[in-house]
Amino acid sequence: MRPLPCSLCLLVLLLFGCTDTPSPPTAVVPPHTGPAAHAKRPAPPGDQWGYAGETGPTHWAELLKNSACGGNQQSPINIITVNAVPDTSQAKLEIHYADSTRITDVVNNGHTIQYDFERGDYVTYGGTRYDLQQFHFHESSEHTIDGVRYPLVLHLVHTNAKGKYLVLAVMVKEGENSAPFTFLERLLPLAIDEPKTVNKRFALEQNLPLERQYYHYTGSLTTPPCTEGVDWFVFRQPITVSHAQVETLGQLMPLNNYRGEQPLNGRVVVVGS
Ligand SMILES: [Zn+2]
Repeated sequence: MRPLPCSLCLLVLLLFGCTDTPSPPTAVVPPHTGPAAHAKRPAPPGDQWGYAGETGPTHWAELLKNSACGGNQQSPINIITVNAVPDTSQAKLEIHYADSTRITDVVNNGHTIQYDFERGDYVTYGGTRYDLQQFHFHESSEHTIDGVRYPLVLHLVHTNAKGKYLVLAVMVKEGENSAPFTFLERLLPLAIDEPKTVNKRFALEQNLPLERQYYHYTGSLTTPPCTEGVDWFVFRQPITVSHAQVETLGQLMPLNNYRGEQPLNGRVVVVGS
């Protein structure tokens, strides 16, 4: 996931490559790598970090000295379900997303798709309110569950009044067509740096799984500056989109925009709902 933008807009990073074959949720999905796939996506200009080569994730800590990327509480992790312990805290995760949120405009800046929309969606955890700031996708998923890497993951990034992060992660598997994804795809601009006015309403909750059991632990942003102290909630149940939808998004998005597994370093993952 990315750090928050300084504006009030919600940043949607649709970080997609593409996959060649429909992927059942029980199989590890290998990253799609091919010259043709690379050629169709322009590299974002001026970035100090990326997802491949000398600016790839394994170099972030050395490239960005002031970042936390070399810390020992980093994300993502592989969630080993048999090691997850029941959440005995009284803290409940409650999601308060509006029935419809007005998306005002969207822009593709070369490695991100940014949607601006009205504020108001939030969650509470342990009685503290965390406002939704942005959402974005990675291809493939960043967290893995028992080693399973899904074709996509949706990250919904929230902060509380003190700037502390809370992120909901929704795994995405391939299967039936998703109407909410179709809606989002129709909004995508084809040209880079050409904002497109949208002014349409969308229910963000449509992209959440029906079953809300989650794995929770404390980690970090998964992109520089890799800030730690992030409360992660990874939903156990994935949502479904079609292979064609993954392919469609993959035509516009950067390739393999995910950070690899980080060491757990003694952290405990709890399972709650
Ligand atoms: Zn993310």
